[in-house]
Amino acid sequence: MRQIETHPSPHQIEPAHRYIYDFADGRASMADLLGGKGANLAEMTRLGLPVPPGFTVTTEACRYYLRSGRLPAGLNAQLAEHLATLEDATGRRLGGLDEPLLVSVRSGAKFSMPGMMDTILNIGVCDATVDGLAKLYGDERFAWDCYRRLVQMYGKTVLGVPAERFEQDLIRAKVRKGLAANAPDTDLDADALRALTRHYQQTVRECTGQDVPQNPREQLTGAVRAVFESWNGERAHVYRRREHISEDLGTAVTVMAMVFGNLGADSGTGVGFTRDPATGAPGAYGDYLTEAEGEDVVSGVRNTLTLEQFGAIDPASHAALRGHMTRLEEHYHDLCDVEFTVERGKLWMLQTRVGKRTAAAAFRIAADLLDEGRIDEDEALARVSGDQLAQLMFPCFAPTAAAAVTPVAFGVAASPGAAVGRAVFDSADAAERAAAGEHVILVRRETNPDDLPGMIAAVGVLTGRGGKTSHAAVVARGLGRTCVCGVESLEIDEHAGTATVARGQAAGAVIHRGDVISIDGTEGAVYASEIPVVPSPLVEYFEGRQTEKQGPSGQSVRGADPVIAAVARLLAIADRRARLGVRANADTPADAARARRFGAHGIGLARTEHMFLGERRPIVERLILAETPQERARALNQLLALQRADFTGLLAAMDGLPVTVRLLDPPLHEFLPDLTELSVEIAVADATHRPVEPERRRLLAAVRRWHEENPMLGLRGVRLGLVVPGLYAMQVRALAEAMAARRADGGAPVAHVMIPLVAEVRELELARAEAIRVLREVDPRLTASIGVMIELPRAALTAGAIAKHAEFFSFGTNDLTQTTWGMSRDDAEGAFFPAYLEQGVFAASPFGTVDAEGVGALVRIAVERGRATRPDLEIGVCGEHGGDPESIHFFHDAGVDYVSCSPFRVPVARLEAGRAAVLAERAAQGAAVGSDTR
Ligand code: PEP
Ligand code: MG
Repeated sequence: MRQIETHPSPHQIEPAHRYIYDFADGRASMADLLGGKGANLAEMTRLGLPVPPGFTVTTEACRYYLRSGRLPAGLNAQLAEHLATLEDATGRRLGGLDEPLLVSVRSGAKFSMPGMMDTILNIGVCDATVDGLAKLYGDERFAWDCYRRLVQMYGKTVLGVPAERFEQDLIRAKVRKGLAANAPDTDLDADALRALTRHYQQTVRECTGQDVPQNPREQLTGAVRAVFESWNGERAHVYRRREHISEDLGTAVTVMAMVFGNLGADSGTGVGFTRDPATGAPGAYGDYLTEAEGEDVVSGVRNTLTLEQFGAIDPASHAALRGHMTRLEEHYHDLCDVEFTVERGKLWMLQTRVGKRTAAAAFRIAADLLDEGRIDEDEALARVSGDQLAQLMFPCFAPTAAAAVTPVAFGVAASPGAAVGRAVFDSADAAERAAAGEHVILVRRETNPDDLPGMIAAVGVLTGRGGKTSHAAVVARGLGRTCVCGVESLEIDEHAGTATVARGQAAGAVIHRGDVISIDGTEGAVYASEIPVVPSPLVEYFEGRQTEKQGPSGQSVRGADPVIAAVARLLAIADRRARLGVRANADTPADAARARRFGAHGIGLARTEHMFLGERRPIVERLILAETPQERARALNQLLALQRADFTGLLAAMDGLPVTVRLLDPPLHEFLPDLTELSVEIAVADATHRPVEPERRRLLAAVRRWHEENPMLGLRGVRLGLVVPGLYAMQVRALAEAMAARRADGGAPVAHVMIPLVAEVRELELARAEAIRVLREVDPRLTASIGVMIELPRAALTAGAIAKHAEFFSFGTNDLTQTTWGMSRDDAEGAFFPAYLEQGVFAASPFGTVDAEGVGALVRIAVERGRATRPDLEIGVCGEHGGDPESIHFFHDAGVDYVSCSPFRVPVARLEAGRAAVLAERAAQGAAVGSDTR
């Protein structure tokens, strides 16, 4: 959970507490207090960039307000004081009749939550100041445009008027003027805007019984409160839950002198990125819109110009912007995004932050910045994540299949990947169908923050309007969703649930709600059918099916796929930095070989039960049903031959590396027919007087005998080894014979025997003694280390005694979680986890991310007690948590030696193992610095 630690109670705050900082008094490192926006505006001000003057109200004031419902004592006085400074800096007065000051009031939390909270522009315009504003800028139309925008934003945000009411007023204003309903707002003249302002005011009154205040100071405090409250808006909650941002942080509020992009053709507003946020390619990138203000650019309502086109119409502002962008990237050593406004040819910087990017861009940018000498290797690792790597391993469209089908439309390739799903046209529908297990693609004319739940639920997002910096594009990239936006040839009718192809070869084709479509976020193509999907190029590279296009020391080579080269390079660094080893959970030679190609150093868990299924199941049945030692021996012998071949294959695939074979774990009834089905079969046969083979009746009796009410806590794991004669001995013998065979073939087998579900040291002693006896019987020269799974709380607590008889521990964190929480993993996730997550009982499933306080405490105890007995005890983790990034950091910290995970997670685990070492070192250094200065 990302959070900070300052939580003063309302009573602890003294009246003189500082709640406001001028931009000149802050810096980038103060994001806890000033939010990201406030801190970065302060930093840009310190750098001497042209930032309009302003100040930031702290997150502390917000937290106070959210707790108590009141603005903290002293805040109003501080507002007045800082407003006076702002007025002096600009030479204008808020509410001044001649030269009125207008300010923007914007939200800004510590972690960027784009579009999730509120912003109100043009605070300060009212009946008394609108004429002065017109005179000041010599433009009456402009003054009324500001006024109507204020009434609209304030009405919606502070007073809660539905946005559609203003939309309707706007359309009526255009129609009254004889304009088309979709004519640009710029076609409305001063008179029309004056009338529109009055209509908006009337609408506000009708909807709320209140007016937008005529007193600009009242407007200001109303706006500050509204921004504070927007922290608790529904969409902000949804976003924070998803991004694991703590609910307690609160937002800061920046108040800044307005500069205007809506002052005519030599004004405008834009956004820019210092590198391409979709691919990571170098070179500035952005969108600009003339005669526009605020959200106009990112909302996608009008088509924007590229930065090059901006340069053609306003070379001086463009050159200045490029200079500032370069400066910012050099200062932050990272991709930055900026928002800027040009007011009558003068450029102003309104925001910057380290920009969001796709997974591919993250790797490419980190490797490029490393090449450029701007960051070091540790920092490069800190800039990428295992989750991003996992995204790059998702499949994409089969090139040949995609080439055989003509896309019905093209748009902007805004967030890469391949998505196939049913077209849905609203957020609620998307969420509903996804919850029912369908893959959906959310199709919208444009998205706004209310679409967030649908975007989370969808596998892809398709919009008719907007560029790479539109809301849809930015949010989809952040969520890791495939996105194609600005598909102008699609006429999207959300009410009818249709998207009609208006131009091109496929003109007239209609996509209806529920139709399967495919979108390619890398190429920007839209297909009206299902396109087959193939492995990602990165997976092909790991598989060795793409040549390694990088130099021997890992540097990128010209012509290489830059993303693959970047991943290879960062993985090589991670391998060097990691202390944790990475092994794989693999039960077949094919999986083992893949794991090895993906960089696994051995098998941490081979689940032998998977070898007892399919056509081998009848042999296991015979073993269970055996009534005489001879019958049992026959079944065991048959299994022995098969197991020997299984183990030989695994040892060959992992030659020279450890292969950890877990002796049989699941309850035996899993190998028998279902009790109900078999009972019904025999009962029906009896009732209809059909003959029943005696063998079936014996089987039913055995099924009844082995049936357990709670099999996960029943006869399984080592308990089987101790009560089913010969079972574990057969498995150990098969392994020993496989080792001997591999040796005879010149191989270097390294086998580990792992005993599951031990609770008491005596269980281990017995199982171990038998294993050693069998190994010696096969060949006295054979050695295999014999260890134990720690997957029951009692095993963790008695680890000191258990370690006397174990050469290694491997945490079975699946069972350890299950038994620590007393929850069946097969049942709990479907049954009550959604409700638990919703109610905040836990932030993430404890079966996905290790529960550090409970299960993690047992892990730490077992590590400590185990090593106290046997300092060289090797300790691994083989539960699913071994492939989970956050858990890997925990295991690093707990002193575990390796994690083991599924072959496809191996690269992710390698990267995170390296990152864990880097981040832990940094945290230790930070703590040391902290203790020095205390
Ligand atoms: C575990 O319990 O974590 C484990 C790896 O064993 P299994 O999932 O097979 O029970
Ligand atoms: Mg287990």
